[in-house]
Amino acid sequence: MEFDVLIVGAGPVGCVLAEQLANLSNKKVLIIDKRYHMAGNCYDETHESGVLIHKYGPHYFRTNDKNLVDYLSKFTEWIEGNYYVTSKYINEYYPFPINRLTINNFFEKKFKTESEVEKFINEKRIKIENPKNSEEFVLSRVGKELYEAFYLGYTLKQWDLHPSKLGPSVCGRIPIRYNEDCRYVDHKYQLTPKFGFTELFKKMINHKNIDLKLNTDFKDLRNENFKTIIYTGAIDEYFNFKYGKLKWRSLEFKYKTFNKEFVQPNVQINYSNDFNYTRSVEIKHVTKQKIEKTVISYEYPTDKGDPYYPIPNEINESIYRKYKLLAEIETKEKNVHFCGRLAEYKYYNTDEVILKALELYQKIKENDK
Ligand SMILES: Cc1cc2nc3c(=O)[nH]c(=O)nc-3n(C[C@H](O)[C@H](O)[C@H](O)COP(=O)(O)OP(=O)(O)OC[C@H]3O[C@@H](n4cnc5c(N)ncnc54)[C@H](O)[C@@H]3O)c2cc1C
Repeated sequence: MEFDVLIVGAGPVGCVLAEQLANLSNKKVLIIDKRYHMAGNCYDETHESGVLIHKYGPHYFRTNDKNLVDYLSKFTEWIEGNYYVTSKYINEYYPFPINRLTINNFFEKKFKTESEVEKFINEKRIKIENPKNSEEFVLSRVGKELYEAFYLGYTLKQWDLHPSKLGPSVCGRIPIRYNEDCRYVDHKYQLTPKFGFTELFKKMINHKNIDLKLNTDFKDLRNENFKTIIYTGAIDEYFNFKYGKLKWRSLEFKYKTFNKEFVQPNVQINYSNDFNYTRSVEIKHVTKQKIEKTVISYEYPTDKGDPYYPIPNEINESIYRKYKLLAEIETKEKNVHFCGRLAEYKYYNTDEVILKALELYQKIKENDK
């Protein structure tokens, strides 16, 4: 087959664009990935125990966008998301994000209303106008005790950086609640694909115009001619690290199988003050797979390995800005489009990145007219 478009990376962005270009614009698409599998970091696979695991950390799909759910529902059925996280402090497990139950247990209080909790937390808060980093942000929202119990140690392990060296958005993503809502996130739709993410994306690109080649690196196809390229790999790699390497934080996953149906009471436990790992994850709580064994994955943050989390500091941001300028020229002159987590050096959740891909399709369609 002669291809109109090359898509580098068979993650969510690559698959959505392949699907849109093939179905709506009748383009012939070659999609490549250097890994042995598709679905990018959303990839799930059956572990040797028979348990379906999320290979690159738990993926809790959530969105407020009904149209997005409708779009993805063409490729999957759903089960309700069951995203509950607790955080261990000394010998107790507290609901996380912090809510009224966390506050009552932690401070040995019996608050019954949101306004009682709010008043109490207002007294704990350290008044900082315009917090400039994650430490200031959390101190200004919950005060010293909760910051030290639930944020400080976890953030140090996760980033190998003190929260005062990280932008406010790093810890600012997590809500703080005065009610007893124990769900991990607030979104309207919290859904898990019934047969897993890999099945969802497989179905998405199952089209006669789409050819998928795994174990194939872009560098081996660089000199071939394509009218349009969509690049979802690392932006610094595309430009041969001309302005230096962008830094990422990674994770090493260690798995343990148990001959029990469940080991943990909920999917994720955070460890701010114990162990070298940050969290233990029992994904069966989310996938609801019926199997007698279970697998727990333990996450050890590291600087080596696959790029997972961009490190938001000034050096990285200024390097990225330079690459972005080059990318804009590449788009204009060579019709190469950069999209996604690696190409934009930005942490996106799956729903956000899929919306980005849908937006890019519209742009490409307009330019094609
Ligand atoms: C630990 C972790 C937990 C997460 N948890 C959640 C969650 O709970 N909920 C949620 O919504 N989202 C979560 N995410 C985010 C989600 O994984 C991303 O939003 C999504 O995978 C980004 O899609 P993408 O297509 O941009 O990138 P990716 O999924 O990374 O896909 C890019 C693909 O490009 C390939 N590639 C790169 N370079 C090349 C090259 N040179 N040649 C060929 N192929 C190449 C890569 O192998 C990869 O498969 C999590 C991410 C991580 C890392």
